[in-house]
Amino acid sequence: MNRDVEAWGAPARHYAKSAKQAEAVHANLRWHDAVNRVAPRSADTVGQTVRLWNQRIRNQLTSEIGFQLRGRQVFVRVVDGLPAPLSEKLEHTDALALVALNRSLLKDVVGGTLFMESEWNNVTAAGDGGTAGRLEIRRVRETAESWLKLLEKHELGTALGEINEDVLGAYFYKDSEVRIYWLAIGIYAALYSVPVEALTFVVLAHELAHAYTHMGSDIDGHTWPTDEFASTDIAIIEGLAQFYTEVVCGKLESQMPGALPAFETLLRHQSEIYSTHRKWIGKNERNSGEIVRVSLVECRRSGRKMHRDTFLETVNRRREEILSQPVQPTLFNRS
Ligand SMILES: [Zn+2]
Repeated sequence: MNRDVEAWGAPARHYAKSAKQAEAVHANLRWHDAVNRVAPRSADTVGQTVRLWNQRIRNQLTSEIGFQLRGRQVFVRVVDGLPAPLSEKLEHTDALALVALNRSLLKDVVGGTLFMESEWNNVTAAGDGGTAGRLEIRRVRETAESWLKLLEKHELGTALGEINEDVLGAYFYKDSEVRIYWLAIGIYAALYSVPVEALTFVVLAHELAHAYTHMGSDIDGHTWPTDEFASTDIAIIEGLAQFYTEVVCGKLESQMPGALPAFETLLRHQSEIYSTHRKWIGKNERNSGEIVRVSLVECRRSGRKMHRDTFLETVNRRREEILSQPVQPTLFNRS
């Protein structure tokens, strides 16, 4: 069967360059200034979160996937600027950067002025209603509404939802380097009202999951040859990273309670490719960790560019096998 594979590591993707070539990221000053106004400590917060969670997330990935890095180094760097695919989508809305990041304020203005209009008679009857008349208050509401409409017309959310590659962080597979874009995280955190710490955690887990599925050794010492990893279907590679990101967020929930909600919020605004894992495994499905792990090992050892449909078939076959295995009697079974 001939099925076209949309390769995860295709040359056009920004992380397919060597880390050195990708050094020049887009500065995008308008968005930079807007994030600095809305959340001035974003760069520090992202850096601190990466330092705090880097090893703990790695430990969790090792125990979930069962792969070890065995002396192979994966560097994590927090970098300035934006990767090209994100910068290109944002530049159409440059002039409205600060307004876009303060969308919730405009909604508050609409709600607040509506309330004032409805209470106008009661307040003026009770005493001095202030300097603005009801009509002026209505004009402020209508202005805020037209600003919100203008934002909608720019369709920033739709544009960001079309991005089909990692832009908040990235795994540069040719150099085994994870890059975290603090400005991108600051923008998304403000746009979608999620804490910077929680979003950084999610991005770090996702990019490290790419590194572990690629470079981690299984029990027999196999890793994923780089050219085969890069030419595998993007839906498989992103599906695996998302599956393990969600698992890690869930397992470390008591220490980072904001991670799972941030993961879910991000998912609602990302392209469909980032929800691929949901087609494989049901929510709270039993044995899901083992089903995905054995499917991943089979995919890595197949030595070919696997298509997303073939991986789904593998997951379904592995699920059947695992479910048909007899249940091991427990030591204290009294029956
Ligand atoms: Zn990814």
